Amino acid sequence: MLESIKKIFSGNEEEMPVNSSSKPDISRAKSAELYEKSKTFFPGGVNSPVRAFKSVYGTPLFIQKGDGCFIWDADGNQFIDFCASWGPLILGHNNSKIREKVIDVMQNGMSFGAPTALENELAELIIKHNKYVEKIRFTSSGTEAVMSAIRLARGYTKRDKIIKFEGCYHGHSDSLLVKAGSGLVTFGETSSAGVPKSFAEETIVIALHDKAAITQAFQQFKDQIAAVIIEGIPANNGLLIQDQDYIEFLRAACTENGALLIFDEVITGFRVGLEGAAAYYGIKPDILTYGKIIGGGLPVGMYGSSAEIMGHISPDGGVYQAGTLSGNPVAMAAGIATLTELTKSGFYKDLNAKTLEFAESIQRFATARNYKFKVFSVGSIFWFAFTEAEKIQTAEAIDASSMEKFKIMHRELLNRGIYLGPSGYEVGFVSAAHTKVELEKAKRAIFDALDLVFKK
Ligand SMILES: *Cc1c(COP(=O)(O)O)cnc(C)c1O
Repeated sequence: MLESIKKIFSGNEEEMPVNSSSKPDISRAKSAELYEKSKTFFPGGVNSPVRAFKSVYGTPLFIQKGDGCFIWDADGNQFIDFCASWGPLILGHNNSKIREKVIDVMQNGMSFGAPTALENELAELIIKHNKYVEKIRFTSSGTEAVMSAIRLARGYTKRDKIIKFEGCYHGHSDSLLVKAGSGLVTFGETSSAGVPKSFAEETIVIALHDKAAITQAFQQFKDQIAAVIIEGIPANNGLLIQDQDYIEFLRAACTENGALLIFDEVITGFRVGLEGAAAYYGIKPDILTYGKIIGGGLPVGMYGSSAEIMGHISPDGGVYQAGTLSGNPVAMAAGIATLTELTKSGFYKDLNAKTLEFAESIQRFATARNYKFKVFSVGSIFWFAFTEAEKIQTAEAIDASSMEKFKIMHRELLNRGIYLGPSGYEVGFVSAAHTKVELEKAKRAIFDALDLVFKK
């Protein structure tokens, strides 16, 4: 989603170059027609910027339906989907257990603005399987969850500044739409018009994987930093897997300086395992945020912490946060049905093994042909990077010019029935609905696409 921020301003619509591949371009007549119309309603024709296909060839595909690991667009083209609605659909599309539970709950009305038993049920599923939180609060999006977590950290520590990392995305709230300025440790600069400079000045942005920058930031802004926020495993601007000792260092630095450590696990929560990135690293954050998967495809976010810290949230404490549709029963139902499946024994073992096999065999193919191409993966998340580097751990290490190769790959994959998110900075997701057969088919298409990308 970071990519969306960069591209929001460029907005040039590029002509599709002549297709040099053996496969003809898919028909987009109906999608193109819908897009012409949607452009009259919405900025860029979309309700979230990355959907506008600004970083890949062609116009956006309008999706008509999904089932299992497949989606179909308005022109009837079928794709194996690795975007998974940007992560929530860990069970695939139109999962019957989720659908039936949602329909069942909907029979009794859709919203009350009063507590329901369903909120307890989803909360219990989350807390029972997470040793890092004692109390939680539901929101309706990841953005809201993170924004509220930041407010809680500020209210709890009575400090104003936060540290975030270049290359991590935390939703679109003002204090987090901030990018690094020049210099090792600086106040951030806004990365969106409309964010007051004074807000950005409360956000310190530093590079990932840089211990010295952390130390310097805590020295320079002694007793002013409320929290350090990091994506559990940064997965919104490439997949920037951090070293264990770096995360341990962050944990220790926060504790020493009286700042809270916030793990934004909106992607990684219930994705890299039952207890997310916190358990992956075996490190206890002070505040956790979840989203995406816990809503099973409906809008749910959540932040959680110890009972003591959560005691600062209204009405128990002085940090105000609310929501008309928070804890919505239909959304809770989708979350309950989803997590019920995830807590079954062996779920993650199977899914992660399947993803690893997929990633490794693509890597073997690319390596055998000397292609400058790496597949990074963790759990059921993967990222295709056009690089020779063994590791990519900072935003800066991503070669922007390599995105031209991704554009070709994206087009070739669409033409071969494979749907990836429309940006080379975005990760892909394997779901429980991707069977061996489809993963084999996807691999073959990826091999073909790579051959075309690297064709001399
Ligand atoms: C998706 C995401 C968000 C924002 O969630 P929305 O539901 O899109 O508002 C925040 N943080 C991370 C890590 C995310 O991946």
